[in-house]
Amino acid sequence: MAGEIVDSVEMLRRLIAFDTTSRNSNLALIDYVQDYLKGHGVESKLVPSDDGKKANLFATVGPMVKDGIVLSGHTDVVPVDGQPWDTDPWTLTLKSDGKYYGRGTCDMKAFYAIALAMVPQFQKARLKKPIHFALSYDEEVGCIGAHGLAARMASEVPKPRAIIIGEPTMMTVVHAHKGAQIYITKFTGFEAHSSMTHLGVSAIHFAGDFVHYLNRVQDELDAAAPKNSEFMPAAATFNVGTIVGGTAGNILARECEVLWGYRELPGKPIEEIGERALKWLKDELLPKMQAKHPAAKIDTVLRSSTPAFSPEGNDEAKALARAWSGSNVVGSVVYGTEAGIFKKTLGVPTVVCGPGDIAQAHQPNEFILASQIGACEDFMRRMVEWASRD
Ligand SMILES: [Zn+2]
Repeated sequence: MAGEIVDSVEMLRRLIAFDTTSRNSNLALIDYVQDYLKGHGVESKLVPSDDGKKANLFATVGPMVKDGIVLSGHTDVVPVDGQPWDTDPWTLTLKSDGKYYGRGTCDMKAFYAIALAMVPQFQKARLKKPIHFALSYDEEVGCIGAHGLAARMASEVPKPRAIIIGEPTMMTVVHAHKGAQIYITKFTGFEAHSSMTHLGVSAIHFAGDFVHYLNRVQDELDAAAPKNSEFMPAAATFNVGTIVGGTAGNILARECEVLWGYRELPGKPIEEIGERALKWLKDELLPKMQAKHPAAKIDTVLRSSTPAFSPEGNDEAKALARAWSGSNVVGSVVYGTEAGIFKKTLGVPTVVCGPGDIAQAHQPNEFILASQIGACEDFMRRMVEWASRD
């Protein structure tokens, strides 16, 4: 079978050209990857989303045996809407500063573009231990796809030795991160003329009380935070991302929707802070709203839950990733990844290690340094050497 040979940069150029913003389908990219792998004689399996508009992909290069390495990446990217880009975000552009620009260059198409381009080398190396690809959808909107992907791999892939999540770490090794829980809370008040505040309930005013509550709890968490934590910030952190509501300046707002959430440290039950907030809404705030008008309501849905990635049990993945990356730095990050989901579902030591700097992620003019592509290729070469030994 004669598959197409492309280098890492060309593969990255092709993957960047797919606008896989999370609101779009990722199927064009997935089809491309599936065809490319098929050209090299590698069969891949898809795990579609419920509505069939998106899919995860997993595939194995080498023998179907245990002790392989999972290379994991997400196919979606964050929107470019309203961002001042100097180049077309969907066209990989190398500038004289040695940086490749494009949406998804660092977060995080480069990692698996490099791995895909190296598939012919993986095959030539006569692997004794397999290299598995795991590509997910909808990471950026709460790690939606990874759950189904990890579950399928747990039942169909012989137990791997380690999982590498290729999010941008400048090829340093990350062994822990916080978890994230995101909710949407809808406050329903009762409309009245703004001069007749005794006749209605403003959903916005009560939503504001909720934001104040979250600030108070944040102060409490900060005060109780451990002094020498490896996390910065050391405590769990809240964020209210958006507030949408109201009709006009002279109407008590009927509706107000608050998108909020928090990031919790590993080792703490992720639901705890959220459940406490929901209890406060029900026991403290709702009765006050309903005292003004019985039609008032508060409804909350959990939008996504990304488990924290705990440092325990990752030693073997850490040792391998350190050897392959040449990095002595083992640290933690505060942004979420799919690491916690894969580690928990497959029960396998996991690290985050990938090319590019998280500081460039989600930014206009997102880029990856050419030297980071080289560093990741070196990582893969050492990994292949390891995987071809007995
Ligand atoms: Zn990412």
